[in-house]
Amino acid sequence: MEKGKLIVFSAPSGSGKTTIVKHLLKQIDLNLEFSISATSRDKRGDEINGKDYYFLSTQEFIQHIKKDDFLEWEEVYRDNFYGTLKSEIERIWSLGKHVIFDIDVSGGLRIKRKFPEQTLSIFVKPPSIDELKIRLKKRKTESDDKINMRVAKASAELATAPLFDIIIENDRLNDALDEAYGLVKNFIK
Ligand code: 5GP
Repeated sequence: MEKGKLIVFSAPSGSGKTTIVKHLLKQIDLNLEFSISATSRDKRGDEINGKDYYFLSTQEFIQHIKKDDFLEWEEVYRDNFYGTLKSEIERIWSLGKHVIFDIDVSGGLRIKRKFPEQTLSIFVKPPSIDELKIRLKKRKTESDDKINMRVAKASAELATAPLFDIIIENDRLNDALDEAYGLVKNFIK
């Protein structure tokens, strides 16, 4: 396999897409590798540099933008940059694997536009904005201010769902996991 497939999961923060992505990564038959994004945001909890993200300073991030190193990048929240380095995709393809992304809505759509045939873009829809708020609060990783910022952004993101190849409704997690597995399995055939 010279160039693998690209599986994009996008959704508002708190919709459960990270759980789905982690589940799929455990399925060896799917042959997936996680696209580690670069970010300028602070490290959270037990996150590890080079595993969850490449944590960069804002200055380092801007240097990469200037050098055109990103396939896509986004200022997802104010002063918090996130992006996919081209070198990351090359790294994964050279392992003979398919790439799975956990990225925001604009980034996901941009990748689909750049690689329309190779990409499966999936939007994970939370049951409701209220439920989203509850999930973010339960996570206890962000301040109330940050939670409110994420919830405000979520409403706008929900409107972009129809632009994706597929929408998965994450009402019952087990169903969402099974559905995601089936979709990816079929796409990489
Ligand atoms: P978090 O701070 O919760 O890890 O991520 C915040 C948002 O940024 C999430 O929606 C996440 O999917 C998104 N994100 C993570 N990596 C990337 C990336 O490389 N590009 C873009 N556009 N968004 C990303």
